[in-house]
Amino acid sequence: MSMESVAWHAMYRAGHGQPEKRSFSRATLRRIAAFARPHRRRLAAFLLLSVVGAVLAVATPVLAGRVVDAIVAGGPVGTVVGLAVLIAVIAIAESLAGIVQRWLSSNLGEGLILDLRAAVFDHVQRQPVAFFTRTRTGALVSRLNNDVIGAQRAFSDTLSGVVGNVVTLVLTLAVMLTLSWQVTVLALILLPIFVLPARRVGRRLAALQRESADHNAAMGNQMTERFSAPGATLVKLFGRPADETAEFVTRAARVRDIGVRTAMVQWVFVSALTLVSALALALVYGLGGYLSLNGGLNAGDVVSLFSFERVFEILDLPPLIAEPAVPVALPEGPLSVELDGVRFAYPSADKVSLASLEEVAQLDARGGEEVLHDVSLRAEPGQLIALVGSSGAGKSTIAQLLPRLYDVDEGSVRIGGVDVRDLSFDTIRGALGLVTQDGHLFHESLRSNLLLAQPEASEEELWDALRRARLADLVATLPDGLETVVGERGYRLSGGERQRLTIARLLLAKPRVVVLDEATAHLDSTSEAAVQEALGEALAGRTALVIAHRLSTIRAADRILVLEAGRVVEQGTHAELMAKDGRYAELHHTQFDQPGEAAPLPVG
Ligand code: ADP
Repeated sequence: MSMESVAWHAMYRAGHGQPEKRSFSRATLRRIAAFARPHRRRLAAFLLLSVVGAVLAVATPVLAGRVVDAIVAGGPVGTVVGLAVLIAVIAIAESLAGIVQRWLSSNLGEGLILDLRAAVFDHVQRQPVAFFTRTRTGALVSRLNNDVIGAQRAFSDTLSGVVGNVVTLVLTLAVMLTLSWQVTVLALILLPIFVLPARRVGRRLAALQRESADHNAAMGNQMTERFSAPGATLVKLFGRPADETAEFVTRAARVRDIGVRTAMVQWVFVSALTLVSALALALVYGLGGYLSLNGGLNAGDVVSLFSFERVFEILDLPPLIAEPAVPVALPEGPLSVELDGVRFAYPSADKVSLASLEEVAQLDARGGEEVLHDVSLRAEPGQLIALVGSSGAGKSTIAQLLPRLYDVDEGSVRIGGVDVRDLSFDTIRGALGLVTQDGHLFHESLRSNLLLAQPEASEEELWDALRRARLADLVATLPDGLETVVGERGYRLSGGERQRLTIARLLLAKPRVVVLDEATAHLDSTSEAAVQEALGEALAGRTALVIAHRLSTIRAADRILVLEAGRVVEQGTHAELMAKDGRYAELHHTQFDQPGEAAPLPVG
C-alpha cells in the first residue's frame, strides 16, 4: 500500500458525507506526491528504514515472550541471557534507525517547505498589479508562512506516522495470527468500532483548525496594516484604538478557545481509545497498530492536509497576464508608441484574486466598468506626447497599459509597431521606463534601489546617473553614501529627491520609451529646478508619453491630447489647441493663468 493511497483512504473516511471535498483531496494528494517526487531517493531510504524500524519494534515483544517462556520452562540460562542481549542490541539498533529516520524526514519536510515557498513566491510575483491592489499583504504573507509550514507538517507526519504504522500493523497482524487466530479475528471484528469516532473527531478537528488558521491570518493582517507607518498614522488620526484592540483581542481569544477545544477533543479521543484498549489485553497489538494508524491519519494528518489546499489555491490562481509563447523582437533604434482603438475596464475582483484572501475586507471594490472608450494615440519615435485632462479621465490608466500592467479589452497597444502582448516581459522592461508620481523605493540601500534598474551597473555608471539626475551632490554628503538605507525607517528623501532618484534609476535602465506621470505636488523652487533638469536628461532623445501637469512640459510637447471621461476629446499643439478655444484652453486658463511659470523643459 503506497503512502498516497493510505492517506487517501483515510481522507475518504474522514470526508465521507462531504462528497465535493473528496475529489479535491484526492487531487491534493496527487499534487503533494508531485512535490515529493524530486526527493524520491531520500523517500525510499526513509521507507526502507521505516520497515526496518517496524520489524525491530515487533521483534522486541516477541523476544520478550520467548524470554518469559524460557524462564517459566526453566530453560537454560544461556538462552535467557542470549535473548536478553539480543533485545538490547535491537533496542540500540532501533534508536539508531530512529535518529536516521528523523534526519531523513526533517530533511524531506524542510526541502518541501523550500519548494513550496519558492513556488508560491514566484507565482505570486507574477500576478498582475490588480491582484495586489485587492489582496491584503498580511493574508498573503500568512500563506507563505503558516500554511506552507502546515503543509510541511502534514507531509512529515503522514510520512513518519502512516508508513511506520502500516508496516507495524501488517507485521503485528502476522505475529498475532501465528499466536492465536481467534484473538486476531476478534481484534479485526472490533476494529470498526474505532473507525466511527475517529472519523468524527478528524472532521471536528479539521474544522477547528481551519477556523483557527483564519483567525491567525486575520490577526496577522491587522498587525501588518496597523503597524506600518502609514497605517499607524491613520489609526492615530481617525482610528479608535480601543476598538482596534478589542477586535484583536476577540480574535486572539477565539484562537485560545480553539486551542483548548482541540486539545480537549484530542484528549478525550485518545483517552477513550486508551481505556477501551486497556480492556482487552489480547487486542492491544491489533488495536494499538490500527489505532495509531487511524489516529495518526484522521486526527492529525487529515487536519493538516487543508494547509496544502490553501497553498495550492494560490498556485492555481492563473496569471491574468501571460507571456507569449513565441515573443517578437523589437526593431532597433527609437521606438514609436501607439494605442489603437483601446477599450479597457479594470478587472473585477473575482478575476484577479482569491475570495479567501479578501475575506477580511474589500480593499478596492472598483472595477468592471469601462474606463477607456476607444482611445487612439500615437507618438512617433523620439516624440513627446503630453496627456492632459481632469482627474479620473483615464491618464494613469493609459500609462499602466503601456508596460502591460493590465491588458486591454479591445484594440491594441503597440511599441515599435509590435503589440505589447507579443513581446516578452524582458523586452518590455528593457524598452520602457515608467516613472510614477510616488516613485516607490524599497526599504534598502540607495545602491540596491538603483541596481534594480541595471544589476550590472558599474560604480562609475551609478555616479554618472546620480549626477545627471542632480543627486550626486546629495549622496556624496551622506555619511553612508550609496549604502544609505532609504524608506520608511531609513533616510527620508524629500519629494523632489525621491523623484530624482527614480529618474536616476530610469537613466541607468536607458529605456527607449519613457512613460512619465508628472508630480502634481508642489516642490520648492530649488527642487523643482533640479527635477526639471533631471527630467530633461531623462527625456532627451527618447519617445515619451507624459501625464503633464507642468505648463513647461505641455508647451514642449510635440502633441497634446486632452482626455475626458475615457475619451480623447481634443488633440494638437499648444498653439493649435489654444486657438481652438475648447476644453484645452479652458483647462489651461484654470490651471496656468498665474504668474511665475517654470522655465520650458529642455527637450532634445
Ligand atoms: P487619471 O489618471 O486621469 O486621474 P485614472 O486613469 O487614474 O485617471 O482613472 C480612470 C478611471 O479608472 C477612474 O474612474 C478611476 O476611478 C478608475 N480606476 C483607477 N484605478 C483603478 C483600479 N485599480 N481599479 C478600478 N478602477 C480604477
